[in-house]
Amino acid sequence: MIKKHPKRVLLKLSGEALQGSKEYGIDVKLLEKLSEKIVYLSRYKGVQIVIVIGGGNIFRGVSGAASGIDRSQADYMGMLATVMNGIALGDAIEKQGNSVRIMSALEIPKVAETFIRRRALKHLEKGRVVLTVSGTGNPYFTTDSAAVLRALELNCDFMIKGTKVDGIYDKDPFVDSTAKKYENIGIDEALDKGLQIMDQSAIALAKDEKLPIFVCKLMDIEKILSKSIKGTYVDVT
Ligand code: UDP
Repeated sequence: MIKKHPKRVLLKLSGEALQGSKEYGIDVKLLEKLSEKIVYLSRYKGVQIVIVIGGGNIFRGVSGAASGIDRSQADYMGMLATVMNGIALGDAIEKQGNSVRIMSALEIPKVAETFIRRRALKHLEKGRVVLTVSGTGNPYFTTDSAAVLRALELNCDFMIKGTKVDGIYDKDPFVDSTAKKYENIGIDEALDKGLQIMDQSAIALAKDEKLPIFVCKLMDIEKILSKSIKGTYVDVT
């Protein structure tokens, strides 16, 4: 199971999660609520928080490439979308009174510090939320891979994937009311069943390095310290 008193956790937020019920972009009210939860964990519970934020609510490289943009260029556009989300979330966290540092894999010094591992570790030790943007900084990757990478290099106890539903189901619970939720699932079983946890390269790295993953509802993240948390633990051993 996930560690009861984690020192440091990585929170992967997809762009879609920030979209709420909107068709596109960012739901500012949702962002406010989400930041309260992040600040609760960081400031009041002393958990060091690393966030990796996606950009799918604004732009995805694959869709850009499908409409004729060069794939690498489209992926850079996707990475820039994560920067926009990061600025919005960073602002919301700061408004709740918690110090935050936006760190980018792509160099954009006017809006974010460049991601440097040792610097990120120092920020975390000082109680600052580290919000990483622009994924890995490389095209052909996703922010899921960036999340696993940052969780490993920043020695996080585990990674939380915040989604719209409270865990991993055998079918889409929004479409099929008979969908069954898994409390625990082995990574190989999830792969065999074609369950969408993360993309293949992210899963391969998590599996190789045995990074524990917990999937839960985005709006439940502050409960990760309590027994009442509902979600699915992905066994990567
Ligand atoms: N992206 C990339 N390299 C990375 C991370 C992201 O090229 O290391 C691009 C890619 O085009 C992707 C987009 O950024 O579609 C947005 O990221 P992602 O799809 O992972 O966002 P999410 O699904 O989490 O909202």
